[in-house]
Amino acid sequence: MLDALAFTSPSVAVSTAFGLTDELLDRHPVLRLLPHALRDSTRREGRLCACESGDNLFATSPVVGFMLSGTLATFDDRGLACVSLLGPGATFGWETAFAPASGGRRLALLDSCWIETPVRGLRDAMGAAWLEHVFARHALDRIQRLQADSACHAVHPVTRRAANLIRRLYQAAGPDVRTTQSAIAEAMGVQRTSVNAAVKALERAGAVSLRRGRIQILCHERLAGAACGC
Ligand SMILES: [Zn+2]
Repeated sequence: MLDALAFTSPSVAVSTAFGLTDELLDRHPVLRLLPHALRDSTRREGRLCACESGDNLFATSPVVGFMLSGTLATFDDRGLACVSLLGPGATFGWETAFAPASGGRRLALLDSCWIETPVRGLRDAMGAAWLEHVFARHALDRIQRLQADSACHAVHPVTRRAANLIRRLYQAAGPDVRTTQSAIAEAMGVQRTSVNAAVKALERAGAVSLRRGRIQILCHERLAGAACGC
């Protein structure tokens, strides 16, 4: 079942090959609204995937993904810089319709679950022009997000950026954020010690409580107040 995929972690689980239910597809805001032909293709050929916080994934097959829960950090082709965060409702992989999958790394910041479906099936169902339109829209959103992230990186200190990232994980996972400071540091492109100092400051401020492999959110208002808000 994992023949077309190359994941490094044994904890990645894939659904059985009996298709996906409408109930599952309806859990994603984009899949819910897509035309019937695309939903049919995804129901037939799609797979439900899951991984644990801290897992590294290297997807090498041309698939489009629809995030249901958790958060994945996507890295550039060299695997060094985080270029996007994929939270619930996000999609990824549209570019694989036009270029081979780059093998770029994704790091799970939280336990995550998503549906992925071969891009070939979407092209057959909807046509190349439709895919080009979706890809262009997706690329535009991504460029705007990258610009905002670079500005954040340039002007906001690590403490405020760390609070902001933890706030985003809270929005995806609720108050019990199962993640590691190492994963946060990788996603931010900073040293783990810098993240540790930031988290300790948040703890002193009564915003969070640090546990092994977890950050418990104690006061969302204080966390939001410490975050840069980008
Ligand atoms: Zn910022």
